[in-house]
Amino acid sequence: MRRGARTLLIERDRPGGECTFTGCVPSKALIEAAAQRRSFAEALVAMRSAVTAIAASEDAGALEHEGVELLSASARFVAPRTLAAGTRTVRARRVVLATGSAPALPPIPGLAESGYLTNESVFELERLPASLVVLGGGPVGCELAQAFARFGAEVHLVGSGEPVLSKEEPAASAVIAAALEGRRGGAPPWPPCQRGARHRRERRR
Ligand SMILES: Cc1cc2nc3c(=O)[nH]c(=O)nc-3n(C[C@H](O)[C@H](O)[C@H](O)COP(=O)(O)OP(=O)(O)OC[C@H]3O[C@@H](n4cnc5c(N)ncnc54)[C@H](O)[C@@H]3O)c2cc1C
Repeated sequence: MRRGARTLLIERDRPGGECTFTGCVPSKALIEAAAQRRSFAEALVAMRSAVTAIAASEDAGALEHEGVELLSASARFVAPRTLAAGTRTVRARRVVLATGSAPALPPIPGLAESGYLTNESVFELERLPASLVVLGGGPVGCELAQAFARFGAEVHLVGSGEPVLSKEEPAASAVIAAALEGRRGGAPPWPPCQRGARHRRERRR
């Protein structure tokens, strides 16, 4: 758009998507409130205020100010480079697909019937649950587990046998595992060879 292209953003729900409403913004606001040892009720207020502020910077008016037209509708291709959205048919030289993702339900017997939260519903909780099982030890699982534990919920973080944050360096993963378990003064969270590697990296800086 800043290079002169006429730009149309087609959004079927709310501009801002997951990040603003069910991802980065509410989770970071919740984590920050938990780190400040605020109550869950206070955290909800802070979280909703953060979401409202960010959403206002991405709404139709803000987009228009940036030169982007917003079309609120569900889009589908009807021909190459041609989309139908609402009552309009739009043809464009370039189409960027940024349609995001949805939470995947793991095939755990009984899960569907038992009731569960995802990132699309967890931020709508009105009261702190007494206990919570978080499935998945990736970044989102870890951060939500830590925040809810800090608010006072009993949290069990369940992974698939991999260490938490298994895609990160083992040393980083060990630090997070120790922090989540409340281990502070225990053994160093990295084996000696990795400790050396860490020191070498520090000297090069
Ligand atoms: C709890 C949580 C915390 C996170 N924290 C961070 C973080 O701290 N930092 C970070 O970088 N990332 C974080 N993420 C990831 C981040 O939210 C996503 O990577 C990001 O939102 C993806 O953006 P996107 O635009 O690709 O998709 P989305 O945000 O999902 O947007 C896609 C949009 O497309 C729309 N759409 C779909 N199909 C159609 C259609 N046919 N017609 C019209 N519109 C359509 C949807 O309504 C949606 O608004 C977090 C995610 C979660 C769940």
